[in-house]
Amino acid sequence: MIITNRSRTTYPVAEKVALLYTNSFNGLLVTILVASVLAFGFIGGEYNNAKLMWWMALMALSMVRLADYFYFKLNGDSQHFNASAALIRFAFGILLTAICWGGYGVFAYFFLQNNNIELTVTLVILAAMVGGAANSLAASKTLTICYAVALLLPFSVCSIFGQYDHLRLLGYIGILFGIAIAINAFRASSFIADAFIFKHNNEKLNAAVASLKRDAEQQQQELEKTKELVQQTQIDLEQEIEKRTEKIFQLSGVDPLTGLLNRTAFTSQVENLVESAAELEHAVALLFIDLNGFKQINDAFGHKLGDSVLEEVASRLSAFCQEQHLGRWGGDEFLIVLPYTDRTSALSVAQAIETSIHQPITLASNQLKLSATIGISLFPEHSDNAMELIQMADVTMYEQKRQGRIEPAVFNTDLYARLKDQQALKDGLVNAIENKQLHLVYQPIVNAQKEGVWAVEALLRWDFNGTPVGPDVFIPLAEQSGLIREIGAWVLNRACIDASRWEFSGAPPVSVNVSVIQLFDDNFLDILDRALASSGLPAERLHIEITESVLADNKEKAIAQIQLIKQRGVQVSIDDFGTGFSSLSQLQTLDVDHIKIDRSFVQDLSAGSETIIRATIFIARELGCDCVAEGIETIEMADQLRRMGVTSLQGYYYSKPISNSALLTWANEFEQQKSTHPEAS
Ligand code: C2E
Ligand code: MG
Ligand code: MG
Repeated sequence: MIITNRSRTTYPVAEKVALLYTNSFNGLLVTILVASVLAFGFIGGEYNNAKLMWWMALMALSMVRLADYFYFKLNGDSQHFNASAALIRFAFGILLTAICWGGYGVFAYFFLQNNNIELTVTLVILAAMVGGAANSLAASKTLTICYAVALLLPFSVCSIFGQYDHLRLLGYIGILFGIAIAINAFRASSFIADAFIFKHNNEKLNAAVASLKRDAEQQQQELEKTKELVQQTQIDLEQEIEKRTEKIFQLSGVDPLTGLLNRTAFTSQVENLVESAAELEHAVALLFIDLNGFKQINDAFGHKLGDSVLEEVASRLSAFCQEQHLGRWGGDEFLIVLPYTDRTSALSVAQAIETSIHQPITLASNQLKLSATIGISLFPEHSDNAMELIQMADVTMYEQKRQGRIEPAVFNTDLYARLKDQQALKDGLVNAIENKQLHLVYQPIVNAQKEGVWAVEALLRWDFNGTPVGPDVFIPLAEQSGLIREIGAWVLNRACIDASRWEFSGAPPVSVNVSVIQLFDDNFLDILDRALASSGLPAERLHIEITESVLADNKEKAIAQIQLIKQRGVQVSIDDFGTGFSSLSQLQTLDVDHIKIDRSFVQDLSAGSETIIRATIFIARELGCDCVAEGIETIEMADQLRRMGVTSLQGYYYSKPISNSALLTWANEFEQQKSTHPEAS
């Protein structure tokens, strides 16, 4: 509650002390100044010594008060500052000062009454000092009155009751002046007290306003929370209703948006048709229809319009079959089952459907264009199982889409076998590490000039249940499924361990292939560090081979990752150079250590690849990179590339990829050959 009653408000001593001290500084300076004027302004009289002593006493007192003033300035704000003690010190100082002045008044009465000018100046100064104090001591009426009394009373009493008649009037004036100052002191002190009360109340008011504001904010926050809760509950309820509605529709077999059969109802419809077709020995065709460009429409025009498009497509499709033979599989996928329909008729219907869907759809004054990809499966040719027929039509559609073909296609068993094989490989790859089906082989890379071993490339092999699968087949599969991260980490680890044990040919570096997905993986550098640390292989004995495709994926990230790899002392090679889309100038941005010219250029030397190889060698040299040629199969190739300036050579001519244990034998034989045929080097 705000306190407005004055009597209930305390007038803090600290505030009073602060005001007194703050106002006292000017008064002190004036005291020093005018005391000096009185002591030295009328020099030459007989009381010089007495005046000097008075002046020195007042100066000493003023210095002590000045020191006290500065002490207050420095410590007044401190929590431990004792305001009451300061008030006593201040009162003591001010009263002593007043007594000094009062004493000077008595001195003036007795010894200066013959010197009119000096007496007048003295009395004017005394009056001015009292007047000034009424202002500077306004915070305390007691001090003001005591000051005025101590200063004026001695002179006034002497004047009224003394022997000099011409000074009596001055005595009365002094008394009257003192009374006026006292009245003023009462007024000023009450004014200041009011000011303090207002200030105090103001602070309380501000605090009350701030607290009210805080309360209001808190209430607002609580209101927001409740609002959010209500909204969330509403959303939850809506979702629940949606789910239940969906469930009801599902149970009723109807797709809520289009009114067509849903998955379950359509599948059982196909089952029934296939069953009766088997009895009556007629063919059934199943069409899997997927819209092209629907996602873009949905994204650009919103879901509402997207829904209208789907309704329109459903209505167009219903022209090609009976109501119970048309279903929505989900999203923008529709299914049609056609009894008494063979391959030729199915293809004709599919083409007609494509043409129909291709017709512009006008919705909300927008002309929209779609197309459809259709896959077809047939009973009894492909399967007598409804689910299988749907899957077959689906993969046919998907394969058409993948190959960028727009015309409808009928399922073929080769495709199915291929897809099944791929799936089997993908499934097998998941457990390849665990089942110890992966191993590394090594292929040496030879220094073109000295014919020593420059590095050894690690190449991955997969033995899938006794059948070797080439890296050209399983690496892309591992990349597609994301398994390459785990497999790649295994390769890096294994290669580092094997290389750390090589003691032949001056312990050459090992070169490990790293896929783009691996390189861009956030954990790659950790995996790299761990492989080096756990094997103890020095970083400079590890080369990382990446392909140009890193540039196409994310150039900035590739540059940053390569930099981080190189900071560790690991060297980086660009593999299969020339097969990607990067230009020679882009090499500069990648800052790699070696360039490996793809074996297709080496093997096509006679067919005109020479220019490309020469350009690559030139750029590599300009960039300070080593240049490695892959796929060297004959001594002629080796000689020609050496002459062209390639620094290292790799290929079957030197060695096919061999096991880790065979590598040691190869290296020993290679060294021996070199020493028995030194001309080879
Ligand atoms: P790459 O890195 O360019 O490896 C060189 C390929 O050329 C190897 O095939 C090797 O056996 C083959 N080769 C070497 N010299 C000759 C030769 O004189 N003539 C012929 N015709 N071929 C030669 P490979 O081992 O089948 O590897 C194929 C690709 O699979 C590799 O190409 C590499 O891109 C990838 N790959 C192999 N292992 C790994 C791996 O651990 N991780 C990743 N990410 N990719 C790997
Ligand atoms: Mg390689
Ligand atoms: Mg290569």
